[in-house]
Amino acid sequence: MTQSLSFADLGLKKPLLDAVAEQGYQTPSPIQAQAIPAVLAGKDVMAAAQTGTGKTAGFTLPLLHLLADGPKVQGNQVRALVLTPTRELAAQVADSVATYGKHLPLRSQVVFGGVKINPQMMNLRRGADVLVATPGRLLDLYQQNALRFKQLEVLVLDEADRMLDMGFIHDIKKILALLPAKRQNLLFSATFSDDIRALAKGLVNNPVEISVTPPNSTAERVEQAIYPVDKNRKAKLLCKLINDGKWQQVLVFTRTKHGANRLAKQLEENQITAAPIHGNKSQSARTKALADFKAGRVRALVATDIAARGLDIDQLPQVVNFDLPNVAEDYVHRIGRTGRAGASGKAVSLVCSDELKELKAIERLIGQVLTREELPGFEPVNKLAETTLDSRPQKPKKPKKPKAHGDGQRSANNAGKESQGRNSGQNRSGGEGQNGKPRRRRRPQGPKSQA
Ligand code: AMP
Repeated sequence: MTQSLSFADLGLKKPLLDAVAEQGYQTPSPIQAQAIPAVLAGKDVMAAAQTGTGKTAGFTLPLLHLLADGPKVQGNQVRALVLTPTRELAAQVADSVATYGKHLPLRSQVVFGGVKINPQMMNLRRGADVLVATPGRLLDLYQQNALRFKQLEVLVLDEADRMLDMGFIHDIKKILALLPAKRQNLLFSATFSDDIRALAKGLVNNPVEISVTPPNSTAERVEQAIYPVDKNRKAKLLCKLINDGKWQQVLVFTRTKHGANRLAKQLEENQITAAPIHGNKSQSARTKALADFKAGRVRALVATDIAARGLDIDQLPQVVNFDLPNVAEDYVHRIGRTGRAGASGKAVSLVCSDELKELKAIERLIGQVLTREELPGFEPVNKLAETTLDSRPQKPKKPKKPKAHGDGQRSANNAGKESQGRNSGQNRSGGEGQNGKPRRRRRPQGPKSQA
Protein backbone atom coordinates (compact mmCIF):
# COMPACT_ATOMS: atom_id res chain seq x y z
CA MET A 1 0.00 0.00 0.00
CA THR A 2 2.68 2.40 1.01
CA GLN A 3 4.81 1.24 -1.93
CA SER A 4 3.12 3.50 -4.46
CA LEU A 5 3.09 6.51 -2.15
CA SER A 6 5.49 9.34 -2.89
CA PHE A 7 6.77 12.00 -0.52
CA ALA A 8 4.79 14.55 -2.55
CA ASP A 9 1.59 12.61 -1.80
CA LEU A 10 2.18 13.23 1.88
CA GLY A 11 1.74 16.97 1.36
CA LEU A 12 5.25 18.13 2.22
CA LYS A 13 6.56 21.45 0.94
CA LYS A 14 8.74 21.64 -2.14
CA PRO A 15 11.94 22.61 -0.27
CA LEU A 16 11.53 19.44 1.80
CA LEU A 17 10.74 17.30 -1.24
CA ASP A 18 13.87 18.64 -2.90
CA ALA A 19 15.98 17.78 0.14
CA VAL A 20 14.51 14.28 0.28
CA ALA A 21 15.16 13.75 -3.43
CA GLU A 22 18.75 14.89 -2.96
CA GLN A 23 19.12 12.13 -0.36
CA GLY A 24 18.00 9.66 -2.99
CA TYR A 25 14.94 8.48 -1.06
CA GLN A 26 12.35 7.20 -3.50
CA THR A 27 9.42 6.25 -1.30
CA PRO A 28 8.47 7.01 2.27
CA SER A 29 9.22 4.17 4.67
CA PRO A 30 6.18 2.76 6.52
CA ILE A 31 6.80 4.88 9.61
CA GLN A 32 7.12 7.98 7.43
CA ALA A 33 3.95 7.15 5.51
CA GLN A 34 2.05 7.03 8.79
CA ALA A 35 3.78 9.62 10.94
CA ILE A 36 4.13 12.45 8.42
CA PRO A 37 0.38 13.00 7.78
CA ALA A 38 -0.40 12.69 11.50
CA VAL A 39 2.21 15.26 12.49
CA LEU A 40 1.16 17.61 9.68
CA ALA A 41 -2.40 17.39 10.99
CA GLY A 42 -1.15 18.68 14.32
CA LYS A 43 -1.81 15.44 16.17
CA ASP A 44 0.17 13.97 19.01
CA VAL A 45 1.94 10.80 17.94
CA MET A 46 3.16 7.74 19.80
CA ALA A 47 5.28 5.61 17.52
CA ALA A 48 6.92 2.26 18.15
CA ALA A 49 9.81 2.26 15.73
CA GLN A 50 13.35 1.06 15.96
CA THR A 51 16.33 2.90 14.63
CA GLY A 52 16.71 2.00 10.99
CA THR A 53 13.06 2.42 10.11
CA GLY A 54 13.51 6.00 8.92
CA LYS A 55 11.87 7.40 12.05
CA THR A 56 14.10 10.48 12.15
CA ALA A 57 12.82 11.73 8.81
CA GLY A 58 9.37 10.59 9.99
CA PHE A 59 9.28 13.35 12.56
CA THR A 60 11.81 15.82 11.15
CA LEU A 61 10.16 16.37 7.77
CA PRO A 62 6.67 17.29 9.04
CA LEU A 63 8.20 19.23 11.91
CA LEU A 64 10.15 21.43 9.51
CA HIS A 65 7.05 21.80 7.34
CA LEU A 66 5.01 23.10 10.28
CA LEU A 67 7.77 25.38 11.53
CA ALA A 68 8.28 26.93 8.10
CA ASP A 69 4.74 28.32 8.31
CA GLY A 70 4.97 29.74 11.81
CA PRO A 71 6.30 32.92 13.41
CA LYS A 72 9.95 33.93 13.49
CA VAL A 73 11.88 32.60 16.45
CA GLN A 74 12.92 35.16 19.06
CA GLY A 75 16.18 35.35 20.97
CA ASN A 76 16.79 32.40 23.32
CA GLN A 77 13.47 30.87 22.36
CA VAL A 78 12.92 27.41 20.92
CA ARG A 79 10.03 26.41 18.69
CA ALA A 80 10.61 22.67 18.51
CA LEU A 81 12.57 20.68 21.03
CA VAL A 82 13.90 17.21 20.22
CA LEU A 83 15.21 15.32 23.24
CA THR A 84 17.53 12.36 22.71
CA PRO A 85 19.24 10.06 25.21
CA THR A 86 22.80 10.26 23.86
CA ARG A 87 25.14 12.81 22.39
CA GLU A 88 25.70 10.69 19.31
CA LEU A 89 22.01 10.46 18.60
CA ALA A 90 21.60 14.20 19.23
CA ALA A 91 24.36 14.91 16.70
CA GLN A 92 22.80 12.58 14.16
CA VAL A 93 19.30 13.95 14.54
CA ALA A 94 20.73 17.46 14.21
CA ASP A 95 22.46 16.39 11.00
CA SER A 96 19.14 15.13 9.68
CA VAL A 97 17.43 18.39 10.61
CA ALA A 98 20.14 20.32 8.77
CA THR A 99 19.98 17.98 5.75
CA TYR A 100 16.21 17.98 5.35
CA GLY A 101 15.90 21.66 6.24
CA LYS A 102 18.67 22.93 4.00
CA HIS A 103 16.29 24.72 1.61
CA LEU A 104 14.25 26.34 4.39
CA PRO A 105 15.17 29.51 6.29
CA LEU A 106 15.03 27.85 9.70
CA ARG A 107 17.63 27.87 12.44
CA SER A 108 18.57 24.63 14.14
CA GLN A 109 21.02 23.87 16.87
CA VAL A 110 22.25 20.89 18.84
CA VAL A 111 23.34 20.93 22.48
CA PHE A 112 24.79 18.13 24.56
CA GLY A 113 27.17 17.69 27.44
CA GLY A 114 30.84 16.86 27.38
CA VAL A 115 31.69 19.99 25.38
CA LYS A 116 31.91 23.66 26.38
CA ILE A 117 28.62 25.29 27.27
CA ASN A 118 29.58 28.87 26.35
CA PRO A 119 29.48 28.54 22.56
CA GLN A 120 26.09 26.85 22.94
CA MET A 121 24.87 29.79 25.02
CA MET A 122 26.13 32.28 22.46
CA ASN A 123 24.41 30.47 19.62
CA LEU A 124 21.14 30.28 21.48
CA ARG A 125 20.99 34.07 21.71
CA ARG A 126 19.43 34.11 18.26
CA GLY A 127 16.96 31.41 19.21
CA ALA A 128 16.45 28.05 17.51
CA ASP A 129 13.51 26.88 15.43
CA VAL A 130 14.66 23.35 16.19
CA LEU A 131 16.79 22.53 19.20
CA VAL A 132 18.10 18.97 19.50
CA ALA A 133 19.31 18.31 23.01
CA THR A 134 20.24 15.74 25.61
CA PRO A 135 18.30 16.31 28.83
CA GLY A 136 21.06 17.25 31.28
CA ARG A 137 22.66 19.94 29.13
CA LEU A 138 19.26 21.34 28.26
CA LEU A 139 18.52 21.85 31.95
CA ASP A 140 21.94 23.39 32.52
CA LEU A 141 21.32 25.87 29.72
CA TYR A 142 17.90 26.70 31.09
CA GLN A 143 19.30 27.28 34.54
CA GLN A 144 21.82 29.67 33.04
CA ASN A 145 19.02 31.62 31.36
CA ALA A 146 20.20 30.70 27.89
CA LEU A 147 16.85 29.16 27.00
CA ARG A 148 13.17 30.01 27.15
CA PHE A 149 10.20 28.01 26.03
CA LYS A 150 7.47 30.62 25.54
CA GLN A 151 7.43 29.95 21.78
CA LEU A 152 7.62 26.18 22.06
CA GLU A 153 5.18 24.46 19.70
CA VAL A 154 6.41 20.87 19.42
CA LEU A 155 8.21 18.43 21.71
CA VAL A 156 9.79 15.26 20.35
CA LEU A 157 11.08 12.52 22.64
CA ASP A 158 13.31 10.28 20.56
CA GLU A 159 14.26 6.80 21.79
CA ALA A 160 12.20 7.35 24.90
CA ASP A 161 12.78 3.78 26.11
CA ARG A 162 16.49 4.40 26.20
CA MET A 163 16.01 7.68 28.04
CA LEU A 164 14.20 5.82 30.78
CA ASP A 165 16.84 3.06 30.80
CA MET A 166 19.48 5.71 31.28
CA GLY A 167 17.67 7.20 34.24
CA PHE A 168 16.57 10.45 32.59
CA ILE A 169 13.01 10.29 33.86
CA HIS A 170 13.54 13.02 36.47
CA ASP A 171 15.20 15.33 33.99
CA ILE A 172 12.39 14.70 31.52
CA LYS A 173 9.79 15.54 34.13
CA LYS A 174 11.64 18.73 35.02
CA ILE A 175 11.77 19.69 31.36
CA LEU A 176 8.07 18.96 30.81
CA ALA A 177 7.23 21.27 33.69
CA LEU A 178 9.02 24.12 31.90
CA LEU A 179 7.14 23.80 28.62
CA PRO A 180 3.86 25.49 27.68
CA ALA A 181 0.94 23.11 28.29
CA LYS A 182 -0.40 23.67 24.79
CA ARG A 183 1.98 21.97 22.43
CA GLN A 184 2.23 19.02 20.05
CA ASN A 185 3.96 15.94 21.45
CA LEU A 186 5.69 13.21 19.48
CA LEU A 187 7.01 10.19 21.30
CA PHE A 188 9.25 7.64 19.57
CA SER A 189 10.40 4.49 21.23
CA ALA A 190 11.81 1.19 19.99
CA THR A 191 9.69 -0.73 22.47
CA PHE A 192 6.52 0.12 24.34
CA SER A 193 7.01 -1.10 27.87
CA ASP A 194 4.72 -0.30 30.78
CA ASP A 195 7.19 2.41 31.83
CA ILE A 196 6.88 4.10 28.45
CA ARG A 197 3.11 3.88 28.54
CA ALA A 198 3.15 5.48 32.00
CA LEU A 199 5.35 8.29 30.68
CA ALA A 200 3.12 8.71 27.63
CA LYS A 201 0.04 9.06 29.80
CA GLY A 202 1.20 12.36 31.21
CA LEU A 203 2.58 13.52 27.88
CA VAL A 204 0.49 12.84 24.81
CA ASN A 205 -3.14 13.78 24.24
CA ASN A 206 -5.30 11.47 22.23
CA PRO A 207 -2.31 10.34 20.20
CA VAL A 208 -2.19 8.65 16.83
CA GLU A 209 -0.52 5.35 17.64
CA ILE A 210 1.85 3.94 15.06
CA SER A 211 3.73 0.71 15.15
CA VAL A 212 5.86 -0.34 12.23
CA THR A 213 7.48 -3.32 13.83
CA PRO A 214 5.66 -5.10 16.60
CA PRO A 215 7.24 -4.38 19.96
CA ASN A 216 10.28 -6.53 20.60
CA SER A 217 10.29 -8.23 17.24
CA THR A 218 13.70 -8.53 15.61
CA ALA A 219 14.44 -6.73 12.39
CA GLU A 220 13.25 -9.12 9.72
CA ARG A 221 16.04 -8.55 7.28
CA VAL A 222 18.80 -9.32 9.74
CA GLU A 223 20.19 -12.81 9.47
CA GLN A 224 21.08 -13.96 12.95
CA ALA A 225 23.27 -16.76 14.26
CA ILE A 226 25.23 -17.71 17.34
CA TYR A 227 28.64 -19.32 17.68
CA PRO A 228 28.91 -21.36 20.86
CA VAL A 229 32.50 -20.82 22.02
CA ASP A 230 34.57 -20.83 25.20
CA LYS A 231 34.92 -17.46 26.84
CA ASN A 232 38.69 -17.34 26.48
CA ARG A 233 38.57 -18.09 22.74
CA LYS A 234 36.12 -15.40 21.75
CA ALA A 235 38.69 -12.84 20.63
CA LYS A 236 40.50 -15.35 18.42
CA LEU A 237 37.22 -16.54 16.94
CA LEU A 238 36.27 -12.96 16.19
CA CYS A 239 39.60 -12.32 14.43
CA LYS A 240 39.03 -15.43 12.34
CA LEU A 241 35.48 -14.46 11.43
CA ILE A 242 36.61 -10.98 10.42
CA ASN A 243 39.52 -12.27 8.35
CA ASP A 244 37.80 -15.27 6.75
CA GLY A 245 34.66 -13.29 6.04
CA LYS A 246 36.74 -10.34 4.77
CA TRP A 247 34.50 -8.09 6.83
CA GLN A 248 35.55 -4.54 6.16
CA GLN A 249 33.17 -2.82 8.57
CA VAL A 250 31.99 -4.56 11.69
CA LEU A 251 30.35 -3.16 14.78
CA VAL A 252 31.21 -5.25 17.82
CA PHE A 253 29.35 -5.00 21.11
CA THR A 254 30.86 -5.67 24.49
CA ARG A 255 29.08 -5.40 27.78
CA THR A 256 31.73 -3.31 29.49
CA LYS A 257 33.91 -0.33 28.68
CA HIS A 258 36.86 -2.25 29.91
CA GLY A 259 35.97 -5.15 27.65
CA ALA A 260 35.67 -2.75 24.69
CA ASN A 261 39.14 -1.33 25.31
CA ARG A 262 40.68 -4.74 25.75
CA LEU A 263 39.06 -6.21 22.67
CA ALA A 264 40.00 -3.24 20.48
CA LYS A 265 43.61 -3.76 21.60
CA GLN A 266 43.47 -7.48 20.85
CA LEU A 267 42.10 -6.85 17.38
CA GLU A 268 44.84 -4.33 16.69
CA GLU A 269 47.42 -6.88 17.83
CA ASN A 270 45.96 -9.18 15.19
CA GLN A 271 46.29 -6.54 12.45
CA ILE A 272 42.62 -5.62 12.46
CA THR A 273 42.21 -1.88 12.81
CA ALA A 274 39.83 -1.20 15.68
CA ALA A 275 38.60 1.60 17.91
CA PRO A 276 36.62 1.45 21.15
CA ILE A 277 33.66 3.78 21.68
CA HIS A 278 32.13 4.16 25.13
CA GLY A 279 31.14 6.62 27.79
CA ASN A 280 34.61 7.04 29.27
CA LYS A 281 35.92 8.37 25.98
CA SER A 282 35.86 12.11 25.42
CA GLN A 283 33.34 13.43 22.96
CA SER A 284 36.10 14.19 20.46
CA ALA A 285 37.49 10.65 20.74
CA ARG A 286 34.02 9.23 20.18
CA THR A 287 33.41 11.47 17.19
CA LYS A 288 36.79 10.56 15.73
CA ALA A 289 36.27 6.81 16.24
CA LEU A 290 32.92 7.02 14.47
CA ALA A 291 34.31 9.14 11.61
CA ASP A 292 37.25 6.74 11.15
CA PHE A 293 34.89 3.79 11.10
CA LYS A 294 32.53 5.42 8.63
CA ALA A 295 35.43 6.37 6.37
CA GLY A 296 36.79 2.81 6.43
CA ARG A 297 39.98 3.73 8.29
CA VAL A 298 38.90 1.50 11.14
CA ARG A 299 37.52 -1.95 10.41
CA ALA A 300 36.03 -2.79 13.80
CA LEU A 301 34.22 -0.35 16.05
CA VAL A 302 33.96 -1.88 19.51
CA ALA A 303 31.11 -0.34 21.44
CA THR A 304 29.14 -0.61 24.63
CA ASP A 305 25.37 -0.50 24.37
CA ILE A 306 24.88 3.04 25.51
CA ALA A 307 27.65 4.45 23.34
CA ALA A 308 26.29 2.62 20.33
CA ARG A 309 22.75 3.77 20.81
CA GLY A 310 21.69 5.89 17.91
CA LEU A 311 24.81 5.37 15.82
CA ASP A 312 23.59 5.80 12.30
CA ILE A 313 25.93 4.05 9.97
CA ASP A 314 24.45 3.45 6.56
CA GLN A 315 24.33 -0.10 5.32
CA LEU A 316 26.33 -1.63 8.10
CA PRO A 317 26.60 -5.23 6.95
CA GLN A 318 27.87 -6.88 10.09
CA VAL A 319 27.16 -6.70 13.80
CA VAL A 320 28.82 -8.97 16.35
CA ASN A 321 27.76 -9.49 19.94
CA PHE A 322 31.04 -10.32 21.60
CA ASP A 323 29.09 -10.61 24.85
CA LEU A 324 25.37 -11.07 25.04
CA PRO A 325 23.69 -8.12 26.70
CA ASN A 326 22.26 -8.61 30.18
CA VAL A 327 19.08 -6.89 29.11
CA ALA A 328 17.43 -8.88 26.33
CA GLU A 329 15.92 -5.77 24.70
CA ASP A 330 19.43 -4.50 24.06
CA TYR A 331 19.93 -7.42 21.70
CA VAL A 332 17.16 -6.05 19.51
CA HIS A 333 18.70 -2.58 19.62
CA ARG A 334 22.12 -3.99 18.80
CA ILE A 335 21.10 -5.99 15.79
CA GLY A 336 19.00 -3.04 14.62
CA ARG A 337 22.34 -1.45 13.73
CA THR A 338 22.40 -3.60 10.63
CA GLY A 339 19.81 -4.25 7.97
CA ARG A 340 18.72 -0.62 8.11
CA ALA A 341 16.21 0.99 5.78
CA GLY A 342 16.07 -1.90 3.36
CA ALA A 343 19.69 -3.05 3.45
CA SER A 344 20.39 -6.64 4.46
CA GLY A 345 22.67 -7.48 7.34
CA LYS A 346 23.99 -10.20 9.51
CA ALA A 347 24.30 -10.32 13.28
CA VAL A 348 26.32 -13.01 14.99
CA SER A 349 26.73 -13.58 18.71
CA LEU A 350 29.65 -15.33 20.38
CA VAL A 351 28.06 -17.21 23.25
CA CYS A 352 29.84 -19.02 26.06
CA SER A 353 28.30 -21.46 28.50
CA ASP A 354 27.98 -18.74 31.17
CA GLU A 355 25.62 -16.83 28.92
CA LEU A 356 22.90 -19.45 28.69
CA LYS A 357 20.50 -17.40 30.79
CA GLU A 358 20.94 -14.30 28.59
CA LEU A 359 20.58 -16.41 25.44
CA LYS A 360 17.31 -17.92 26.66
CA ALA A 361 15.94 -14.48 27.55
CA ILE A 362 16.82 -13.17 24.09
CA GLU A 363 15.29 -16.13 22.29
CA ARG A 364 12.17 -15.75 24.34
CA LEU A 365 11.95 -12.05 23.56
CA ILE A 366 12.43 -12.42 19.82
CA GLY A 367 10.32 -15.58 19.69
CA GLN A 368 12.87 -17.74 17.94
CA VAL A 369 15.67 -20.13 18.73
CA LEU A 370 18.80 -18.73 17.13
CA THR A 371 20.62 -20.77 14.52
CA ARG A 372 23.90 -22.22 15.79
CA GLU A 373 27.09 -22.24 13.73
CA GLU A 374 30.50 -23.63 14.56
CA LEU A 375 34.03 -23.17 13.31
CA PRO A 376 36.20 -26.26 13.56
CA GLY A 377 38.86 -25.63 16.15
CA PHE A 378 36.56 -23.40 18.15
CA GLU A 379 34.15 -26.00 19.48
CA PRO A 380 33.62 -25.12 23.12
CA VAL A 381 35.04 -27.32 25.85
CA ASN A 382 32.34 -25.95 28.15
CA LYS A 383 29.31 -26.86 26.10
CA LEU A 384 26.52 -24.38 25.65
CA ALA A 385 23.33 -26.23 26.52
CA GLU A 386 20.69 -26.58 23.80
CA THR A 387 17.75 -24.24 24.18
CA THR A 388 14.07 -24.52 23.42
CA LEU A 389 11.67 -21.68 23.08
CA ASP A 390 10.05 -20.62 26.32
CA SER A 391 6.64 -19.40 25.30
CA ARG A 392 5.17 -18.82 28.75
CA PRO A 393 3.82 -15.29 29.16
CA GLN A 394 6.48 -12.88 30.38
CA LYS A 395 6.22 -11.53 33.88
CA PRO A 396 5.82 -7.75 34.07
CA LYS A 397 9.16 -6.08 34.66
CA LYS A 398 9.95 -4.41 37.94
CA PRO A 399 10.27 -0.64 37.57
CA LYS A 400 13.89 0.38 37.12
CA LYS A 401 15.59 2.49 39.71
CA PRO A 402 16.73 5.77 38.24
CA LYS A 403 20.48 6.12 37.92
CA ALA A 404 22.49 9.33 38.20
CA HIS A 405 20.76 11.80 35.95
CA GLY A 406 21.70 14.22 33.29
CA ASP A 407 24.35 14.27 30.66
CA GLY A 408 27.27 16.49 30.03
CA GLN A 409 29.00 16.80 33.34
CA ARG A 410 26.33 14.62 34.81
CA SER A 411 26.17 12.24 31.98
CA ALA A 412 29.89 11.87 32.04
CA ASN A 413 29.13 10.36 35.42
CA ASN A 414 26.21 8.49 34.05
CA ALA A 415 28.14 7.26 31.08
CA GLY A 416 30.95 6.38 33.41
CA LYS A 417 28.55 3.97 35.00
CA GLU A 418 27.08 2.99 31.71
CA SER A 419 27.86 -0.64 31.66
CA GLN A 420 29.04 -1.22 35.12
CA GLY A 421 25.59 -1.84 36.43
CA ARG A 422 25.25 -4.51 33.84
CA ASN A 423 28.73 -5.86 33.77
CA SER A 424 30.25 -8.50 35.81
CA GLY A 425 33.76 -7.70 34.70
CA GLN A 426 34.32 -10.96 32.91
CA ASN A 427 37.59 -11.50 31.23
CA ARG A 428 36.90 -12.26 27.66
CA SER A 429 40.36 -12.26 26.25
CA GLY A 430 41.17 -14.71 23.53
CA GLY A 431 43.08 -17.93 23.35
CA GLU A 432 44.79 -19.39 20.34
CA GLY A 433 43.26 -19.63 16.92
CA GLN A 434 43.19 -22.60 14.61
CA ASN A 435 42.49 -22.98 10.98
CA GLY A 436 39.54 -24.72 9.48
CA LYS A 437 36.50 -24.14 7.39
CA PRO A 438 33.22 -23.11 8.93
CA ARG A 439 30.91 -25.98 9.63
CA ARG A 440 27.31 -25.09 9.78
CA ARG A 441 24.83 -26.74 12.00
CA ARG A 442 21.39 -25.42 11.27
CA ARG A 443 18.58 -25.80 13.69
CA PRO A 444 14.94 -25.42 12.95
CA GLN A 445 13.73 -22.01 14.01
CA GLY A 446 10.91 -21.51 16.41
CA PRO A 447 7.90 -19.39 15.54
CA LYS A 448 8.71 -15.78 14.86
CA SER A 449 6.89 -13.05 16.66
CA GLN A 450 4.15 -11.67 14.49
CA ALA A 451 5.28 -9.75 11.46
P1 AMP B 1 16.55 6.26 11.18
O1 AMP B 1 15.61 5.12 11.46
O2 AMP B 1 15.88 7.56 11.26
O3 AMP B 1 17.77 6.16 12.03
O4 AMP B 1 17.01 6.13 9.64
C1 AMP B 1 17.75 5.06 9.18
C2 AMP B 1 18.42 5.30 7.84
O5 AMP B 1 17.47 5.25 6.77
C3 AMP B 1 19.13 6.63 7.69
O6 AMP B 1 20.41 6.36 7.21
C4 AMP B 1 18.33 7.41 6.67
O7 AMP B 1 19.17 8.20 5.87
C5 AMP B 1 17.67 6.32 5.84
N1 AMP B 1 16.35 6.67 5.34
C6 AMP B 1 15.40 7.38 5.98
N2 AMP B 1 14.28 7.47 5.23
C7 AMP B 1 14.51 6.78 4.08
C8 AMP B 1 13.73 6.51 2.90
N3 AMP B 1 12.48 6.94 2.78
N4 AMP B 1 14.30 5.79 1.94
C9 AMP B 1 15.56 5.32 2.08
N5 AMP B 1 16.34 5.55 3.14
C10 AMP B 1 15.84 6.27 4.16
